[in-house]
Amino acid sequence: MGKSSKDKRDAYYRLAKEEGWRARSAYKLLQLDEEFNLFEGVTRVVDLCAAPGSWSQVLSRVLIKGERFGRAGWEEKQQNTRRYALGLDKKEATSDATKVKTADETQPNPREGVRIVSIDLQPMSPLEGVTTLRADITHPSTIPLMLKALDPETYDPKATSAPHPVDLVISDGAPDVTGLHDLDIYVQSQLLWAALNLALCVLKPGGKFVAKIFRGKDVDLLFAQLKIVFERVRVAKPRSSRASSIEAFVVCEGFCPPEGFKASLDTPLGAGTQLPTPDKSLGKGSRVSRKVREDGAIELDLGSEEEDVAEDTEEGGARWIAPFLACGDLSAYDSDATYHLPKDRVSLDPVQPPTAPPYKRALEMRKLAGGAYGKTKGQQSKQ
Ligand code: SAM
Repeated sequence: MGKSSKDKRDAYYRLAKEEGWRARSAYKLLQLDEEFNLFEGVTRVVDLCAAPGSWSQVLSRVLIKGERFGRAGWEEKQQNTRRYALGLDKKEATSDATKVKTADETQPNPREGVRIVSIDLQPMSPLEGVTTLRADITHPSTIPLMLKALDPETYDPKATSAPHPVDLVISDGAPDVTGLHDLDIYVQSQLLWAALNLALCVLKPGGKFVAKIFRGKDVDLLFAQLKIVFERVRVAKPRSSRASSIEAFVVCEGFCPPEGFKASLDTPLGAGTQLPTPDKSLGKGSRVSRKVREDGAIELDLGSEEEDVAEDTEEGGARWIAPFLACGDLSAYDSDATYHLPKDRVSLDPVQPPTAPPYKRALEMRKLAGGAYGKTKGQQSKQ
């Protein structure tokens, strides 16, 4: 979060710095947790595309330090947010809010046996209780790295799945957005597939998968595909995610791999060859069907547009539509609104400046050249 970023008027950007989060994205995960109670009973988690690390920070503070957010901290947050928006003193708001909490709720509740593994292409500054890996989630070589980080003592290099699976996989992966919507949506969907295939190797039955998606033309097809391996698939838009952004989050619960299924990146979950019958479990009219092959891989038949039309007219069915939820308390900040700030307000530094930002080299070169655009001809000739 750069100080001169165009995001500086955004309420979540400022609040993140005040509350010690590395990025405003922390609020997206917190608001998703508020809605879906994501961390209930969770001790083992993989955070994909994690840098600069605000989601990992949330994990560390909830699981390792036992702090309460989400549903548990809801009342407190609600009070704080209201008072903050009214321009009341932050300290006063916090102390006042504690009055609504019971004695038990004020006690941190650290969990036992916690393991958090965070992966990103970019390096990440360390966080308490979090193992960070610098790796590409689309590359097969990341799987053994992840498995080793999850179970360093019992790691078997021949294993393709985790001996002690995880409860939750989260992925906030995003490509460098080009502004060409179709291209951005395509690259994003590839990241999502990579995240899902990594999740399939480590999730335990009943586990959860939460990932960022870009809502494009065929996104309902993607939801139907996820419905193949999860009991519940819902889409959520946290209040801290701008309405103008095409991003949303898919929340998949109740991991239910079909019998005989073996996760493998050699045969990743994705489009396969033609299959005989549509899978009824995917709902009437779904054009996605599945089959578990002898080697344990799932093959999908994604159907075709023509089949869609036939299903729509003859059976009265339609593509399976995932329920959509707006989440985050209505009294929370609106990320698209501009809030007026007191004139004497001091702008804070980012909590964790990027360790190796892609623009670092450009800045160095600019400095060497003597300014924003290097020296002008006039300046050079004076020397
Ligand atoms: N959740 C993070 C947080 O709260 O701080 C923010 C994630 S940021 C929106 C998206 C991240 O995706 C970037 O750090 C980027 O490096 C990462 N990313 C993009 N492609 C990736 C890939 N193929 N493998 C690993 N990370 C990737």
